Amino acid sequence: MTYKVLYRGPLSSCNYACDYCPFAKTKNTRKELQDDAKKLSRFTNWVGQQDYDFEVLFTPWGEAMIRRHYQDAFGVLSRLGNVKKVCAQTNLSGNLDWLDDVEVKSTALWCTFHPSQVSQGKFLRQCDVLLSKGVSFSVGTVGLKADFDAISRLRNALSKDVYLWVNAYKREEGYYSDADLNFLESIDPNFPINNQRHQSLGQSCRAGKSSFSVDGNGRVQSCHFIKSEIGNIYDKNFFSQLKERKCSNNTCGCHIGYVHLDRLNLYEVYGERVMERIPLAFQK
Ligand code: SF4
Ligand code: SF4
Repeated sequence: MTYKVLYRGPLSSCNYACDYCPFAKTKNTRKELQDDAKKLSRFTNWVGQQDYDFEVLFTPWGEAMIRRHYQDAFGVLSRLGNVKKVCAQTNLSGNLDWLDDVEVKSTALWCTFHPSQVSQGKFLRQCDVLLSKGVSFSVGTVGLKADFDAISRLRNALSKDVYLWVNAYKREEGYYSDADLNFLESIDPNFPINNQRHQSLGQSCRAGKSSFSVDGNGRVQSCHFIKSEIGNIYDKNFFSQLKERKCSNNTCGCHIGYVHLDRLNLYEVYGERVMERIPLAFQK
């Protein structure tokens, strides 16, 4: 059995200032960062002690990969025999030298481009570093209308082999015109899947069975979107808590959630690269 684990520790800070985001330019104190590092280290040790295989995705509140303790933990996890893959969501702003110490074949990144925060040239240079190191990655952005030109230029400048996903801006109903939808689908063929909230109540989902979310204290939820605790990884009988479940939310609207919803069959679209969001059509 390979478990897909979304790790989100207490870290909540970011070096960017996207105006739609609650973590914009937020800071953690040194004490908070030390606490976050301690919890991450405990999680990493736990993974290494298990008899099961894992894929791990860091989904922080903010930007984690500028922090040494996440870079080190990523390296440790990537070298563990029972970790098939370790991934992180990142704005790709930091120095990428830490990737010289990871096991590249089990490393992948989910890189988000924020046109209001970084020039396209700088972001693309970071992508080139990933390509030169042989690191698998997807690139994505939020489909804000103000960014359409930037999104178009990014698609033209990125290697054709790199998947560019677009997250729909869903806060305003009817935000997109038909022309907008056509444009975004021309950039990301899977945009229509993201541009909706999928009915999920009572439906079978891998979350809580073969996929789960864990916080810095080991507290486990089926996914980030259902807040009830289903166990704690640091309890001896933890794995017995994982079982077939039905979703208790009305809808599911994020890739990291709905990709596990059985009826959507999205494992057939992403194959082994569900976590880093690279569809089969873009896999080498
Ligand atoms: S980079 Fe991500 S976490 Fe940071 S402010 Fe922008 S959206 Fe928020
Ligand atoms: S469908 Fe979404 S909200 Fe429901 S259990 Fe699965 S991941 Fe969670």
